[in-house]
Amino acid sequence: MAKTPEREAILERIRAAGVVGAGGAGFPTHVKYDARVELVIANGAECEPLARSDQQAMAAQPAEVLRGLELAMAATGAAEGVIGLKAKYAEAIERLEELIRLKRLQDRIRLHRLENFYPAGDEFVLVREVTGRAIPEFGLPLAVGAVVSNVSTLIDVAAAVDRGEPVCHRSVTVAGAVAEPGTFRVPVGTPLELALRAAGGAIDRRARLIAGGPMMGVLTEPGAPVTKTTSILLALPERHPVIQRRLRDTARQLHLTRSACLKCMLCTEVCPRNLLGHRLFPDRLMRSLAAGVAEDLEAYTGAYLCSECGLCAVYGCVMNLDPCYVNRQMKARLAEASVPRPEPVERAERVFGPLRRVPTPRLIARLGLSEYDRPAPLRPFDADGLTRLRLPLKQHTGVPAVPEVVVGQEIAAGELVGEIPDGKLGARVHSAAAGTVIEVGPEHVTVELG
Ligand code: SF4
Ligand code: SF4
Repeated sequence: MAKTPEREAILERIRAAGVVGAGGAGFPTHVKYDARVELVIANGAECEPLARSDQQAMAAQPAEVLRGLELAMAATGAAEGVIGLKAKYAEAIERLEELIRLKRLQDRIRLHRLENFYPAGDEFVLVREVTGRAIPEFGLPLAVGAVVSNVSTLIDVAAAVDRGEPVCHRSVTVAGAVAEPGTFRVPVGTPLELALRAAGGAIDRRARLIAGGPMMGVLTEPGAPVTKTTSILLALPERHPVIQRRLRDTARQLHLTRSACLKCMLCTEVCPRNLLGHRLFPDRLMRSLAAGVAEDLEAYTGAYLCSECGLCAVYGCVMNLDPCYVNRQMKARLAEASVPRPEPVERAERVFGPLRRVPTPRLIARLGLSEYDRPAPLRPFDADGLTRLRLPLKQHTGVPAVPEVVVGQEIAAGELVGEIPDGKLGARVHSAAAGTVIEVGPEHVTVELG
């Protein structure tokens, strides 16, 4: 067992390795851990339907998950660590519990078993499940003395601190309309089409791709690169409702909202943030949009509370409207107009309990994905045909990394290609493999391998 370094050294090694939150928007981990808390929650809930990579990582690399959690606790001064994961992840639970016993960590680290519901992995929902406390509206987990870190991030933390390894690979579950769903450890920068090929390719000629899960993922193209936050790649026929929801144009969305909203409030009834007591009312936003009174932007800062989980659209609305989309648009307008996020406020919860949870199997059925709900076991990634890595300089929250290489430069595996600009929020970028830099742009660095 490696010795645990001092707090400052842990943070510096995490920064140097370019570790970011693997389960969400890629918040730089060295910044997140630069805090003092009582509790670190390892997020192993993995709630997106068809996602598999985190549960498999916990079963395959329990020692790294625990080591990463201990390092996160050391960095933040937390006395307690909790791994939040679904009760149905039997193999991961068995392996983690065995190791916790063997390492005599029972006094400091425990598991918290979650039911199989969506969105159990939402940071706000997970904190409420584990601690019994709701994060204040517009607040952060820090407000209740907690830091939340994805289990795949913890594996990266252990590699960075103990072995000085930069983040250059990502476990990606390839699922949906593919021949052999699987989970592959893929070099960051690999074209998604090669990840798709590893799963036997799409079985529908007109399949479209979603990077991310069916609830929160975004449409993408086969040539787009795997990034540090690509946990799932979904291929689905173009006619599938999950794809069609993403193909509606803005004008049609607005027309539908104005003409079809019943003001029934079912979208608000299912909203997980509203259930936590936060003043997020998707039905009111829809109503004001329909009435054309959304000009007083300050009145709609509630949209900032939206996690874009999609439940209101997929599970709540009977008219096939998309309040999640409306919230996203509203957030963009608020940001554009520099309307600040309000200060955090504690709110009384509405009703939060098992009866209000949306069971994942029911959500999968509602999404029309039951036929694709298959195992996606870990398999080796065949890098044959991988000739170039296209490395985005922004795979994280904050500003893009600044290129550290020039065209024609030969680089080694693991070498730095992008640096955090001085004094800014960001993360470093490295190359998984040796090669020659053939392109340096404001958004990407491309490396020809070999
Ligand atoms: S997407 Fe809808 S359900 Fe989810 S947090 Fe936003 S408003 Fe609530
Ligand atoms: S559930 Fe649909 S129809 Fe009902 S208020 Fe919300 S957006 Fe309107």
